[in-house]
Amino acid sequence: MAFNTSSLNPPKSITINQAIEFLHQNDPNEISLWKKSAQSIAFNVYQNQITFTNNIFIPLTFLCRNACHYCGFRRSKVPRGQEFLKPEKIEKILTNARTHKVSEVLITMGDKPEKKYPYAKKWLSNHGFNTTIEYTYFIAEKALKYELLPHINSGTLTFDELSYLREVSASIGLMLETISSRLTHLGLPHEQSPDKHPKKRMATIEKAGKLKIPFTSGILVGIGETLEEIVASLFALKNVHQKYRHLQEVIIQNFQPNRNSIMANFPPPSIDLMEKILIIARHILPPEISIQIPPNLVEGHEHRFLEAGMSDWGGVSSITLDFINPDHNWPSFSKLEQITRKIGYQLCERLPVYPRYINLEWLSPQVYKLASIKKLETRMVR
Ligand code: SF4
Repeated sequence: MAFNTSSLNPPKSITINQAIEFLHQNDPNEISLWKKSAQSIAFNVYQNQITFTNNIFIPLTFLCRNACHYCGFRRSKVPRGQEFLKPEKIEKILTNARTHKVSEVLITMGDKPEKKYPYAKKWLSNHGFNTTIEYTYFIAEKALKYELLPHINSGTLTFDELSYLREVSASIGLMLETISSRLTHLGLPHEQSPDKHPKKRMATIEKAGKLKIPFTSGILVGIGETLEEIVASLFALKNVHQKYRHLQEVIIQNFQPNRNSIMANFPPPSIDLMEKILIIARHILPPEISIQIPPNLVEGHEHRFLEAGMSDWGGVSSITLDFINPDHNWPSFSKLEQITRKIGYQLCERLPVYPRYINLEWLSPQVYKLASIKKLETRMVR
């Protein structure tokens, strides 16, 4: 059944205190009212469409100079010669992606491993690169030649690095995770992760705005932050977007314990809490920012998020794993379509760059050219 918005009158904006109060709220009737309001805000913009991208995941390197306590991606040791995924192997992934009509190449990596591991630096120089960022550019350029659009997650970046990668990116992503610098203190998850300092991450997001780069960010819920800090993180993202209008989507991601991490026995946040955070995020963030919920991390509860204001499932792959959460398999496209349709919504494929950014103000000429062609092939909404 399609969602009906006629009787709802959602608030135009809410204060930090109202948002915190809501997250402490336990009255089911009150939560239900806010949920309908969040769904109404999303419906007014996205109608009954829920988007996703057909993607592949290229883990460029598992080495990372940080050591987040929850990480299931980073490896501190890799066999010599395998510090980075080799260009030949990546060519094979790209060929496969083209066969499967993939549109997004998600290039992800640990942060600047050459700054910590001499053998990572050696691998790069043996292959003709000075930095991981140079290798990333080389791979993204290759992806464009295969008519695939790169979405790059390279960690914190300088203005020059962002400007360089902009040439070959449809969009760039950096999770804020949390605005709380408290989590960098001794014994807390970001104590050994200089790149996770929120000032550094906000600086990257801000610079991307100045450079007019379509951007994805998000929060990671359940790593030890307080409800007040969750609200502060969402307001920080709202504020930076209001300056530059570059956030196309915000991911609300639930922490999942990874077997080989320090936080392997740390409980994930409850679905009730995740739903409340989505509801409040939909009220805080400007409606044009799509809110993404990763479907493989909320399996069995998808309907609750569809009914609470989400508008995007993010990148889903039929070819590659979710290397960040390898224990959580992607749903098939047909299952995702079925789940979405059951709630009265329509599943629509999108590109890694949203339609409002497909112009020469926001994209380099080579990326613009390809995105314009691909836009015609995809049922994109907004
Ligand atoms: S979460 Fe990212 S930054 Fe942190 S250790 Fe893992 S790969 Fe590195």
